[in-house]
Amino acid sequence: MEARRKSLHSSKTFHHEPSTKKPSCDAVSLPLCVANAVFFTVFFTVVYYLLSHWREKIRTSTPLHLVTLSEMIALVAFFASCIYLLGFFGIGFFHSFVLKEDDDSNDVVLKHNSGKLTPCAQALDCTIVTSPPPALVTDGDDEDIIKSVVDGKTPSYALESKLGDCKRAASIRREALERITGKSLTGLPLEGFDYDSIFGQCCELPVGYVQIPVGIAGPLLLDGNEFSVPMATTEGCLVASTNRGCKAIHLSGGATSVLLKDGMTRAPVVRFGSAEQAAELKFFLENPANFGKLSAVFNKSSRFGRLQSIKCAIAGKNLYLRFTCGTGDAMGMNMVSKGVQNVLEFLQDKFPDMDIIGISGNFCSDKKPAAVNWIEGRGKSVVCEAVIKCDVVQKVLKTSVEALVELNMLKNLTGSAMAGALGGFNAHASNIVTAIYLATGQDPAQNVESSHCITMMELVNDGKDLHVSVTMPSIEVGTVGGGTQLASQSACLNLLGVKGASKETPGANARLLATIVAGSVLAGELSLMSALAAGQLVKSHMKYNRSNKDNTKVPS
Ligand code: ADP
Repeated sequence: MEARRKSLHSSKTFHHEPSTKKPSCDAVSLPLCVANAVFFTVFFTVVYYLLSHWREKIRTSTPLHLVTLSEMIALVAFFASCIYLLGFFGIGFFHSFVLKEDDDSNDVVLKHNSGKLTPCAQALDCTIVTSPPPALVTDGDDEDIIKSVVDGKTPSYALESKLGDCKRAASIRREALERITGKSLTGLPLEGFDYDSIFGQCCELPVGYVQIPVGIAGPLLLDGNEFSVPMATTEGCLVASTNRGCKAIHLSGGATSVLLKDGMTRAPVVRFGSAEQAAELKFFLENPANFGKLSAVFNKSSRFGRLQSIKCAIAGKNLYLRFTCGTGDAMGMNMVSKGVQNVLEFLQDKFPDMDIIGISGNFCSDKKPAAVNWIEGRGKSVVCEAVIKCDVVQKVLKTSVEALVELNMLKNLTGSAMAGALGGFNAHASNIVTAIYLATGQDPAQNVESSHCITMMELVNDGKDLHVSVTMPSIEVGTVGGGTQLASQSACLNLLGVKGASKETPGANARLLATIVAGSVLAGELSLMSALAAGQLVKSHMKYNRSNKDNTKVPS
């Protein structure tokens, strides 16, 4: 009975655990099989015994109800074996029906998922795949492949590599996406873009491209050269305003810039068993005697990445190592990361207790507002200045030198201090930075620290003219790598004369681009501050930023 109870219990369990689903007799242990065999034997023996006895009684006309002791024992054995066998196999049989229903209901859920949720999620690649990858349908016509993507049989992400045709992959993915979501992508162009140029480098799972208009501000007269500055933006007034600032600078003899620093940073975090050990590594890294060896190790992975310094910060037994390196014309994140990796491997041998927690420990600090970038700089640190003549301020900027100086003090300095600003002592540096970054293929997320800027406005020339400057410690730009090699972005870099790697002086193109960014910010600051000082801001925005067109007619 114990065995039987166990078997009943096991029946219940597999009711809840389909993975252990087996017929009852397969699930039993050996003693239970023996018990079954015994009860089967008893059952058939007593049945044979009783039938033969009853046949004999019928033949001899003996009443059947006169039961002998042996017949009574046989009957008891018959009922006992019946109860056992019915209980055992009957319940198993019953459970098989119950489970069948449950399996079906599971199937219903799976079918529901596979019909609705799974293909969508697979097509969008946002689920964790737990089953083996399905056979890819990539050699049929487009319709077959679209259906296969919609059904979740072909992963959307695999289209480029399987088809060997990036444009076709984007087109198929786009159609599948429209069917899965039921939303039209009309308005998002597919044609007219080189999808090969972004494969494996700039964007995954493309379905089209967003169009951003590019306007030109300038000429910006900077360090004796004229630049037509491309700005990709959808904010009305921005290009016009920067253009006005360029004009004011030009009429005043131009702006000049100085590049103060050029070094990209990466700061891994490592952990030790004690603060003492962490401090030991800090002293080792900051010891000038060790710099030669460390820079040799750092520099071995790149022709352009050159270690400049390592600044360490301790938090208990954790150490943050902020590496700074020159990166030529590249913005340099990949380059600096590779160098840091080399040094960490080297240090691991010397400091075996060092636990490398992460190659980026946020003391870098990339794409986040952080005082370390504002104070120490990251990428290119640039100061750019101009003296704007009094009559230019009046005629072009429609305000006065005194009004500008006062507004700058109360807004960009005091107002930002009141707001607890971090590197935000300016009117709208990020507007110009982001528009140029989009146009020239920079990483737009780096506008965070690249827009750190303090705008100063002071009286000069016996209080007649305006000295305006922008100081920007963290301009992160490159002219090779990332999005800079794409056709449109490359054309904008070409317009500025900074396309690709500088042949004569590696890094010169990226440095020039950084000064152009600062010069353009100078123009933007001048113009917006003037508009504010003259009370023109709302008026000009109503003119340029409010369209009379009915935007509801835009296809969607
Ligand atoms: P990033 O480090 O900005 O992410 P990448 O590593 O993607 O940039 O691109 C830089 C690549 O360009 C490197 O492989 C580097 O060797 C190459 N390169 C060619 N010329 C230059 C140059 N003048 N300055 C920097 N990198 C260059």
